[in-house]
Amino acid sequence: MRCLLFACLLLNTLHAVALDRFQVEGYQLPNGLQLLLKPGSERGHVAIRLVVGVGFDDFPCADKELPHLLEHLLFSGVDASGEGGLEERMQALGGEWNAYTSNADTTFVIEAPAKNQRKILDLLLEILTHTELSENAIATAKQVVEREEGGHYSHLQRWLDSQDLGHGASNQLAVELGLKCAQRADVRPLTREQLEAVRKNWYAPNNMTLIMVGELDRLLPAYLDRAFGALQPIEPNDHLALPDIRRQAAAQRDLPRGWVGNGAKLHWLFPEPTLDGQPDETLDLLKDYLDWALYQQLRLTHGLSYGPWSEREVLGGVGFFSLNADVERDNLDEARQVLEQLKARLLKDGLDPDTFARLQQAAIAHQAWAVQGNSALADYYWGALGDYEDGHFADPAEALRTVTLADANQALRQLFKQPGYLRIEKPLLGDEQLIGLGAALAGLLLIGLLGWRRYRRR
Ligand SMILES: [Zn+2]
Repeated sequence: MRCLLFACLLLNTLHAVALDRFQVEGYQLPNGLQLLLKPGSERGHVAIRLVVGVGFDDFPCADKELPHLLEHLLFSGVDASGEGGLEERMQALGGEWNAYTSNADTTFVIEAPAKNQRKILDLLLEILTHTELSENAIATAKQVVEREEGGHYSHLQRWLDSQDLGHGASNQLAVELGLKCAQRADVRPLTREQLEAVRKNWYAPNNMTLIMVGELDRLLPAYLDRAFGALQPIEPNDHLALPDIRRQAAAQRDLPRGWVGNGAKLHWLFPEPTLDGQPDETLDLLKDYLDWALYQQLRLTHGLSYGPWSEREVLGGVGFFSLNADVERDNLDEARQVLEQLKARLLKDGLDPDTFARLQQAAIAHQAWAVQGNSALADYYWGALGDYEDGHFADPAEALRTVTLADANQALRQLFKQPGYLRIEKPLLGDEQLIGLGAALAGLLLIGLLGWRRYRRR
């Protein structure tokens, strides 16, 4: 009986450790590779994320696509069987893989059956160390990357970009403020030497984190030590400084989107203030509040927009907060007025205490079920790597709890005391304008025809 009791207790503790998603065993191999290993709740499966600390932000405008191109090349094959042969080997192991290049990192994302986890890690290691960057493979990868980035870069698109009209609203503002490159980077001039240099200078164990969540192999630590421990570390590189606001931008601009249509989008963007001693979650809560306020005002009260939303995003080195709405182009002025009134009222009265308390509680409760399953957990760790310390990730629920109404009001005032930047995306002509234009053209044609007949009769 006592034995059974002990076993139950042990099981419960193990279960609690597995369930506490913020507690993760992490350690570094002697070569600097950071490992995060977490037994997951789903059996038979392991989610693997290899995060390499190199992304678009590490390169100047002309070379921005280098890490992305290298990421594609690493799937081009390790022997004569090429890309197809590599894929066949992964199929035989029952896994799936992909990779993503972002501003800050390049990440290899793998889902694997638990029983083949070490073999799949072997394959990952092989593509990192044994891929030969042949001119042929480079040419093919360039075509793929070019297609992914929206096909051949036409003269018209290049011209639109140089007038910074071709980007989405927030990107257009970022270009105007000097936070982003005006033109899309061209992959064609990139050379094999440059790609080799990226691999040599950034793909090193002391610039990587390996995250594994799921039914982890008993022998995994010994295996990792032997296999991944053999990678050679490098002298770490400095990341390029992220651009800060360098130029002024227009307070308001219209951005043409297509030729004809009645839909339009309104974006009102504000640089985020730096909050002294308050957690970043203060702005997350403010975002929840504004999502609700926009929905109430624009959809429920005025019926102007079906799905208005607020958004937080980082452009270059600056955080932006935006209020956005999809509206009919005839309703643009009215929607804009509603937004201005909302802003003025919030500045005057502050946040409604009851609504704030309700949304704060909802955000805290949401944390209990926000991340489900091995893969979501692995993705969560990938996104929160900056918060990892001493075997723990920071618990967002704790930070959310510490935000007071006064903190949120202060952040709100700092955010909205700025005029912000208004960007309106709409097609060149509305449907009615097109009909008007068509009628005018038909009229001109008729007058011309009548004149010609009169001329002929004479
Ligand atoms: Zn790609």
